[in-house]
Amino acid sequence: MLEKDIEKTFYSEQQIQERVAVLGKEISREYQDKFPLVVGILKGAVPFLSDLVRAMPIHMEMDFMDVSSYGNATVSSGEVRILKDLSTVVEGRHIILVEDIIDSGRTLKYLVDLLKHRKAASVKIVTMLDKPEGRVVDMAADYVGFEVPNEFVVGYGLDYAEDYRNLPYIGVLKPEIYENA
Ligand code: 5GP
Ligand code: MG
Ligand code: MG
Repeated sequence: MLEKDIEKTFYSEQQIQERVAVLGKEISREYQDKFPLVVGILKGAVPFLSDLVRAMPIHMEMDFMDVSSYGNATVSSGEVRILKDLSTVVEGRHIILVEDIIDSGRTLKYLVDLLKHRKAASVKIVTMLDKPEGRVVDMAADYVGFEVPNEFVVGYGLDYAEDYRNLPYIGVLKPEIYENA
């Protein structure tokens, strides 16, 4: 079972759900007349996006992109590649980029530049987690769920070697999980 691999919980399922409800209200106020294109970054943002959009009772469209920057390692390579592009035309659209976590900021910097190049009317960033100590490029989210310290977290979309994404809360793995890998 997943639970036994977790050393400590950073944010419980209830804390996450309460925060997402607040974020959903705030973002809805800003976008209620804009028919935003909500863009989830696969795969980590899926649980967050799924909860967030259901806390946003406004007209919107959804799409997804998959980019790679990490591989299966826990240290960023600094490289960003598009694995799956949007199927929606971006020009003139108000984009809400939904991410699981901002660490170095490289992934989002790359995506924001790309969407601006494609002539989005606006681009804003919503991230469940922000790890400010990890920042390598200048990048700030417009909406943040929670801040986390410079530790490798899993759950609520965040993986270790593609595992643990379905954990309904955010925590840190026991050291022996890495040792046995
Ligand atoms: P950035 O480009 O900002 O360095 O990294 C963004 C991506 O790195 C995130 O979308 C996430 O996939 C991965 N990442 C960064 N920090 C963590 C972490 O603490 N845990 C996990 N599981 N992934 C992370
Ligand atoms: Mg991500
Ligand atoms: Mg990952």
